[in-house]
Amino acid sequence: MVEKKRTALVTGGSRGIGKAICKRLASEGINIVVGYNHNKERAAKLVDELEAMGVKAAAFQGSVENIYEVKKVFRQTLEQFGSLDILVNNAGITADKTLVKMGVEVWLRVIQINLCGTYHCCHEALQSMLPNGYGRIINVSSIIGLTGNIGQSNYAASKAGVIGFTKSLALEVATKGVTANVVAPGFIETEMTRKIPPEIYRSIEAKIPMKRFGTVEEVARLVSFLAADESAYITGQVYGINGGLYM
Ligand code: NAP
Repeated sequence: MVEKKRTALVTGGSRGIGKAICKRLASEGINIVVGYNHNKERAAKLVDELEAMGVKAAAFQGSVENIYEVKKVFRQTLEQFGSLDILVNNAGITADKTLVKMGVEVWLRVIQINLCGTYHCCHEALQSMLPNGYGRIINVSSIIGLTGNIGQSNYAASKAGVIGFTKSLALEVATKGVTANVVAPGFIETEMTRKIPPEIYRSIEAKIPMKRFGTVEEVARLVSFLAADESAYITGQVYGINGGLYM
């Protein structure tokens, strides 16, 4: 019997950690939907790369903060791929300010994308995963959700929220063939961390026991482990990947 190929949707898939996750999953023969918001050209280029790896791939646009756009992405996914087996909630932003200077717009923007976006996508994914009796949900949090950080109260709240949310979801679907886990990266080399001023970058590096930032490929490997059929008995867990910075 020929096994049916799995399909994964990776939000924020066109660059950074998301792109590495798309490539890693594709290398394992998984069909890929690249979720993107602004980066149409990069998403289209990635789809070409993924197809060249021998899987089916497509890029669908939608902001995760907008439930109607999320619904459209999931509709397109089911229409063109037949099912959705793996959801990676990777889309995320930072908008740093100390709390005393943080207006409600900046606070809400980060919560809307990082936390409400994760809720929107999980809610839609369950509509097809539960009837199918199969699903792997991997939510990308952050070390900052565990430790907090100066200037990142909005980001820390959103990423801590993702952890509590995922544990609750894992409990609700534990008997339904659907697992939900969290990956909490430390400092990884991407456009997000390239915004860190050089002197602060160097001081963070010095504090990391391994004395380096992680790579996107290292995070992607952990996600692919949790996305595997064989990871069926792992749910509600938080996996740090941080070079020893937080234990
Ligand atoms: P990045 O390079 O800044 O990329 C962010 C991605 O999120 C982009 O693909 C972007 O898509 C997408 N995105 C942003 N707003 C969106 C929205 N409203 N709707 C849909 N997609 C949206 O970030 P990264 O460093 O790869 O981070 C990926 C994830 O890992 C994030 O959740 C981040 O919080 C988390 N993380 C990163 C680090 C790190 O050190 N880099 C550490 C811990 C956790 P478009 O470009 O199409 O807008």
